[in-house]
This record gives sequence, C-alpha cells and structure tokens, in this order.
Amino acid sequence: MRLDDIDTSGVDVEDQRGSGGRGFPMGGGGGMLPLGRGSMGCGTILLLIALVVIGPKLGIDVGQILGGGGQIAPVEQTQQAPAGQTGAQGCEANAASKFSCQVLASANETWAKAFPPGKYKEPKIVFYSQNGRSGCGAAQSAMGPFYCPADQGIYLDTDFYGELSQRFGAAGDFAQAYVIAHEVGHHIQYLTGIASQVRQYQSRASEVEGNKLQVAMELQADCYAGVWAAKNKERMEPGDLEEGLRAAHAIGDDVLQKAAQGRVVPESFTHGSAKERMAWLKRGLDTGDPNRCDTFQNVQLDR
Ligand SMILES: [Zn+2]
Repeated sequence: MRLDDIDTSGVDVEDQRGSGGRGFPMGGGGGMLPLGRGSMGCGTILLLIALVVIGPKLGIDVGQILGGGGQIAPVEQTQQAPAGQTGAQGCEANAASKFSCQVLASANETWAKAFPPGKYKEPKIVFYSQNGRSGCGAAQSAMGPFYCPADQGIYLDTDFYGELSQRFGAAGDFAQAYVIAHEVGHHIQYLTGIASQVRQYQSRASEVEGNKLQVAMELQADCYAGVWAAKNKERMEPGDLEEGLRAAHAIGDDVLQKAAQGRVVPESFTHGSAKERMAWLKRGLDTGDPNRCDTFQNVQLDR
C-alpha cells in the first residue's frame, strides 16, 4: 500500500509513549473492552497478524507462542523505546506511527464520503508503549491494537511495529494497514449504532449466541477494511491482496485454535474461521460497498 504522500496533520493523535501513561485523563464510561471473555481479544488476534506474517522473519516462533495456552507475550520480546524519548511525538515519532496515521487519514477520507455530509466523526489514534490508559480501562501491549468506543480511540502499542520498520524499513506493509483499517471498521460500527445494538443483545444472549454476534462484528470489520482498500485500489501494490488474505487466513479462529489446542471448537469462535475472514475481507475488496458487509444476515438482533 503506497500511502507515503498522505498528509497526517489533520489526524487526531494522542501520544502516551514515554509518559508511562501518567497524566492522561481517564475517559468517561469506564466500560469493559468489548473483548470476548475467556478468549483472545480482537486486538490480540490482530497483533498475531504481524507475528504470523512477519514473525518468521524475526525468528519469533508463533507456534510456541500459541502453544502456551493461547497467551501471547510478544511485547516482552520487543525492545523498549530508548530512554529519553518523551511523549507527545504523535504521528512523526517513527515510521510505524507515521504509517499508522497515514492509514487512518486515508480511512477517514474514505469513510467521510460514505456517510451523509458532516455525519462522519473521526476517531483518534492513541500510541502507547507497554502500558497506556484508555476510556475503556488500562491498555496493555498484550491486548494488541483495539478500539475503545467510550472515547472513540484506536489504541496501538507501536513498539512491535517500530521494531519491524527499524529492522526492515517495512513501513508500508499491507498487513499493518489491515490492522488499522479493521479497527476503523469497529469505529464505523460505533457510528452506525450496530456496536451498541450488539452489546445490548449480547447482555441477554447465551454465550454461544453472544459469540456468533461477536464473530459477525469482527467479520464486518474485516469487510470494512476491505472496503477501504477497494476505495484506494490505485494505492495497492502487487502482492497486497495476497498478503491481506494470508493475514486473514492466519488469524482465523480455526487456525489459531488448531495451533493452540490441536482441535477446532466452532461454538467458541469469536472472530470467524480463516475461510470466513478471507471471504469477508475479499467481499469488501471486491465490492467496495459497505452495504454488502452484511455479516448479520443469520443473526437475530431485534429480540
Ligand atoms: Zn476486531
């Protein structure tokens, strides 16, 4: 994905790096992160994209990480930001932040056109290192990237990506772009109200039904990520599509479960199977139409 000419000056960015998360006002709401209980969160899964796709190049054994009861600790394997770096460097702090901001700026532009004039509200992007604070509670690296509806923030620990770009100069990686675009997808769900509908329904639903809804949410965010890419096709480079599909496949619940437990338990899926994730990302890419991202077809919401 070629995004290097995109201006990031309009991006709402907050930088908690180098401040230890102190001094950052807690947002209202105080709600829990919408991460599935007893399962790996969406952010954690997305962090795995980078591990699965690029991990082998770094010598990180993904199987070993997954084998440890599904717990991952990639952060412990990354370097700390050099001492002396202080916060508030925003998008310009390093190549990883810059690229993340460029993806967000591009996604903002794309989605603003999909909403009625003036109706799209831009999310903020929050960079933190190891530990941060969000309107949804503490942000920790092990969670991976996540979206917090309470403060409409996309939270990223850029240490991992920072190391990637430092080592390889691979700032323009489509898998990284997919991570941000997926989180923007959750912001779209917040704006359309589908996120709160799902949460209301989940509070009354059984665990199995709740998981089905969670899968539909995640697949829709994948599809929205595809829509963003489709709307910016001229920026895509050879191999981007394959890279995105490979990432979507690698983080399917069935692939992850198999790697972690050696068996697949479809009822406990919270993100969708590899096949589903690839299919919905591709649906977005092929159609470029958010209305075609109807992952809730088979899920009843109005109960
Ligand atoms: Zn997600």
